[in-house]
Amino acid sequence: MDLYEYQGKQLFAQNGIPVPSGEVANTPEEARAAAQAIGGKVVVKAQVQIGGRGKAGGIKLAETPDEAEQRAAEILGMDIKGHTVHRVWIEAASNIAKEYYASITFDRGEKKPLVMLSAVGGVDIEEVASNQPDKLARLHIDPLVGLQPHDARWLAFAAGIDPEAIKGVVSILGRLYRGFVQLDAMLMEINPLILTEEGEVIALDSKVTIDGNSLFRHPDIAALRDTTTSDPQEKMAQERGVTYVKLDGDVGILGNGAGLVMSTLDVVALAGGSPANFLDAGGGSQAEEVVTALEVLLSDDKVKVLLINIFGGITRCDEVAEGLLTAVEQLGTSLPIVVRLDGTNEEEGRRIIAEKAPENVVTEATMLSAAERAVALAKEAA
Ligand code: GDP
Ligand code: MN
Repeated sequence: MDLYEYQGKQLFAQNGIPVPSGEVANTPEEARAAAQAIGGKVVVKAQVQIGGRGKAGGIKLAETPDEAEQRAAEILGMDIKGHTVHRVWIEAASNIAKEYYASITFDRGEKKPLVMLSAVGGVDIEEVASNQPDKLARLHIDPLVGLQPHDARWLAFAAGIDPEAIKGVVSILGRLYRGFVQLDAMLMEINPLILTEEGEVIALDSKVTIDGNSLFRHPDIAALRDTTTSDPQEKMAQERGVTYVKLDGDVGILGNGAGLVMSTLDVVALAGGSPANFLDAGGGSQAEEVVTALEVLLSDDKVKVLLINIFGGITRCDEVAEGLLTAVEQLGTSLPIVVRLDGTNEEEGRRIIAEKAPENVVTEATMLSAAERAVALAKEAA
């Protein structure tokens, strides 16, 4: 479960990691009130679960409450890489002297948490990792021992953190690690971690992912979920209990099983296309579930064509085909739909579609040919 920046910062604060004081605002008026309460210069920050908000114009400085209201009015409703901004975070502006990078993730290969620290922050860390790998200090932590103060000091020196920031960075790494373990996090990232002109080290951004399977242990974090999604499709998917992820392209994808869905995304990319979203209908999709899935996928108006990739194991392809017919009829969609059915009762499934489906629904025999056809149709529609 991914958290928004402001939620991550609230968890940071609870773990003793310094963050600027701030407030959430859902309207320009609330933004004005927040700026008033905070006092002085503020930063208005779009709350969307995607990076690069700064470059996209989703982060703006405001000198006065008036200006904060204006900036919030500009940012609210903005589309950032396919994510609509429904909420902004207003926080006290910081005077940045230096921008660093800190993160903790799991290294599955090593079966250990990996702490990364760099004195080059505020930029895309993948670029630092590939262009200046020596600028990114990395340390695996033995989970039975935990991150020790000397580990954090080693990282700070190896990363070339400025001497006046070392104490603050070491303290934050310790707290970040404790939070990472305690909250069952998969990722905790601070980019940038800054040294202010005043000599303080604070977290200016947060990216936190909590292991969804651990949420039963963290009811307070699970409760955040209700407010995390204002995207209509994601909300719909959540309510109906299906796994749905929104992306940036124009090919909607429905598959059954995580592995198959991931491969479908790859094959669409291979065919030169770009997925708009994907939905995993799970291992045993019944007709009713297909209806639900299609409702969610087709309610996203970025979708120009739908690619359905089903492998029939327990799922029977004829049932999926029936479900598809029902869904198409109920939803009355004329969008092109490319279907690949493989496995249990595939012939029966294809026959049902060939005989009964409207013209916009076509079948293809292989995953690749289905992806190629879907991509071609999406290009035609664009
Ligand atoms: P991201 O673009 O989505 O990663 O959003 P960030 O929260 O990391 O902000 C992007 C950049 O905006 C930071 O690297 C800073 O350079 C700048 N920024 C954010 N908050 C402040 C602030 O309070 N003061 C100043 N001067 N710059 C800020
Ligand atoms: Mn950032």
